[in-house]
Amino acid sequence: MTRSALLDRAGKLSGPIRSIRAVSSPHRSTAVDACPGALRLHDAADGPLARVRIPGGRITGAQLGALREIAAEWGDGHVELTSRANLQLRALNGAPAVQLAARLAAAGLLPSQTHELVRNIAASPLIGDPTPIAALDRALCADPALAALPGRFLFAIDGGAGDVAFSADVAALPVGDRIAVLLAGRDVGLRVSPDATVPTLLAAAHAFLRLAGEAGERRPWRLRELTDGPARVAAALGLPLIEPSLTRPATHEPIGVVDATAVAALVPLGRLTPAQLSALSTAAVLVVTPWRGIVVADLAPGETASWADRLAAAGLEVAAGSPWTGVTTCAGRPGCAKALADVRSDASAAAPAMAGGLPVHWVGCARGCGSPAGPHVRVEATGQGYLVAGPHGGAAAAGDEVAALVAAARKG
Ligand code: SF4
Repeated sequence: MTRSALLDRAGKLSGPIRSIRAVSSPHRSTAVDACPGALRLHDAADGPLARVRIPGGRITGAQLGALREIAAEWGDGHVELTSRANLQLRALNGAPAVQLAARLAAAGLLPSQTHELVRNIAASPLIGDPTPIAALDRALCADPALAALPGRFLFAIDGGAGDVAFSADVAALPVGDRIAVLLAGRDVGLRVSPDATVPTLLAAAHAFLRLAGEAGERRPWRLRELTDGPARVAAALGLPLIEPSLTRPATHEPIGVVDATAVAALVPLGRLTPAQLSALSTAAVLVVTPWRGIVVADLAPGETASWADRLAAAGLEVAAGSPWTGVTTCAGRPGCAKALADVRSDASAAAPAMAGGLPVHWVGCARGCGSPAGPHVRVEATGQGYLVAGPHGGAAAAGDEVAALVAAARKG
């Protein structure tokens, strides 16, 4: 459904809301895909949680301003950044579901009721030409069968740096004048012309759906969960293959003035405060990054320095070497009923003393939600303190000792 079909002339929701309900868990402990969305809220311990998909992480300042108003009116006043560059509103206690959906739709943040859970499109934050992101989103939303994709299935449009392609289920990565189509982060030798990129990504998604449907009751949610998934999807596409040559490169999150048109900021623990939201809302174009940062993009010549000052004044990090670099947490208390600690507060207190080195992820229990895929230090709440585990082993600590142990583990 297009945005114009969804909204009436006053900008109100004109179609029926097909699905607004609270669900109990977003985790893989169940066979039911219960990924939260804007219409399907997650019943978190601190109240309903809405996840708003923003393909490619791209959002206008005005749209972020609309989220700020919703968070202030019905939520906890903050907006969270996810590792897929989407946005979350927490503690939406008392938010009328239909009005919430209407407000999101009026801001252009809910263009499809049927496909809102599957508009999972990662993109390189500094991509030169963002038009393929919008083209893929439009084509995805116009394909009724693809509304059945799992909420975790991820497309990626990579700008060429390899910063998002290797984490997605199906991804496009420019190689010379061709586009490599990666499957479950693997180069299987598939190359297409730029014009064929979107149709090939969608064909790969269709092939995944078909093969996943044959897998029995416990359907795979990600291509890597499907036995021989990349090879089987490549075979189903029936396209010629070349010798695979691409491997995951080392990439770094942008920070500070990136070029003449963009400034990147790290958002401590991926949580934007009301004051930060107000500052960012005055920007024309924003890009949320998969590293829980934000880029003020498409700036006019001479605007970057003043934007860097404005972001720093709002408490966002724009200097390399920030103690917040590589520090992430799960929701913890009070957002998660399973949490044994307020990991955000504990990580915040420890951040200055544990700077630098491997990424570190704090979790409120053994489930380890949101853990990075690569090498990292895991700081897990035990009820008595924390278990700090790195590539070379682990140890328990409590109180002030935790930060020192994490600092040592991050050095590798
Ligand atoms: S890891 Fe964190 S978010 Fe996940 S269940 Fe445990 S406390 Fe909750």
